[in-house]
Amino acid sequence: MNDLNDLREPMIAICRRMNAAGLNVGSAGNLSVRIDQGFLVTPSGISYETMTPDHIVTMDFSGRYYGNYLPTSEWRFHHAILAARTDINVVLHSHALYCSILACCRLDIPPIHYMIAAAGGDVIKCSDYAPFGTPELSDLALAALGPRNACLLGNHGVIVLGKTIDGAFDLLQEVENLAHLYTVVRSIGGGAILDETQMAAVLERFKTYGKQTLDAEDMKRTERIVPPPRGGDTMG
Ligand SMILES: [Zn+2]
Repeated sequence: MNDLNDLREPMIAICRRMNAAGLNVGSAGNLSVRIDQGFLVTPSGISYETMTPDHIVTMDFSGRYYGNYLPTSEWRFHHAILAARTDINVVLHSHALYCSILACCRLDIPPIHYMIAAAGGDVIKCSDYAPFGTPELSDLALAALGPRNACLLGNHGVIVLGKTIDGAFDLLQEVENLAHLYTVVRSIGGGAILDETQMAAVLERFKTYGKQTLDAEDMKRTERIVPPPRGGDTMG
């Protein structure tokens, strides 16, 4: 992850894609990506449409920024999460509508649909409220995330984590879909919540979800998704 220009262009592209997909409003969202020296983060007050790679800010884990542009006012939770969660490389934040609606109601998303496992657990928690940009908000976000890769920020929005920029984007899409689904499900009666046993089986299956090939560990799992038998390299 060392060629910074290789990361800056895709960072801007994902921010634009996020807005085009209706997963954020204006320049409310922000994105950070881990690099060897610290992390890259989107700047303060520059629209995604006019943002160029030069605007992306480099920061270190002492909280210093480098260059002429200020980092997003929400840089603190990017810093805190990347420092605490060494299992991920990307932090993506947005004010996606349905995530924000649930966040305004301070509602966790329960396992109403098995795809909640995509966020790494059987719940997506909503944090209490703290003003944007504060150390208090960083602490609340870390607590709501726990070991998972998504949380709602009380009266604010959503944070998703990923190993890659594309992975974080896909998860944002999934979490907003779950938030939409749960908002509607609640409005027509609450729905059926999957129980602990049902979700444990899904989470076990998710260890191989989206994989292109299965490794030896995957083959030993009893709760794995069994692919069809392989016919060979070519057909006929
Ligand atoms: Zn925000």
